[in-house]
Amino acid sequence: MAVDLTKYVASIPDFPEKGIIFRDLSPLMADGTAYKQATDQIVQFARDKNVEMIVGPEARGFIVGCPVAYELGVGFSPARKKGKLPRETVKASYQLEYGTAELYLHRDAVKPGQRVLVADDLLATGGTISATIDLVKQLGGVVVGCAFIIELDALKGRDRIKDYDVLSLMHY
Ligand code: IMP
Repeated sequence: MAVDLTKYVASIPDFPEKGIIFRDLSPLMADGTAYKQATDQIVQFARDKNVEMIVGPEARGFIVGCPVAYELGVGFSPARKKGKLPRETVKASYQLEYGTAELYLHRDAVKPGQRVLVADDLLATGGTISATIDLVKQLGGVVVGCAFIIELDALKGRDRIKDYDVLSLMHY
């Protein structure tokens, strides 16, 4: 029997700043049944698209993407913040509320033509996932889908990735 995944999301008012409701997915990840159900739903989405590689941004993108990669028997490549990847990288910048941030991917993380699913825990403004998509495209990968556990509808991140097939397991 399927569980109601919304029961495993903790909503924290005024975190990390006043006026923001932080959606905390750690209860979902701490529960074997809920974590497996969420993973299985993303696996199904990826399987239908013949995904060959998963790329997820630091850090919760790893928690979402890695079990999906394991289940599909495909690889996972981490998109990381500055100074974390030891070999030659490509870089993509994105806007934060104040200033900019960068994500990096090893230059050999994705092969040209490879069918890639990008995955993260949560879609907000779409800046993080757009940068992740940009990295995959710089390497010649084909982004065949984007998967999230939560989408914050009001922040309209989906508008920034409207060219892609998007799966979000929950909407707030
Ligand atoms: P975006 O770049 O604005 O779409 O923000 C998404 C990124 O910020 C994801 O990598 C999330 O892990 C993180 N994030 C933003 N808001 C939340 C939240 O309410 N809960 C958990 N993570 C969040």
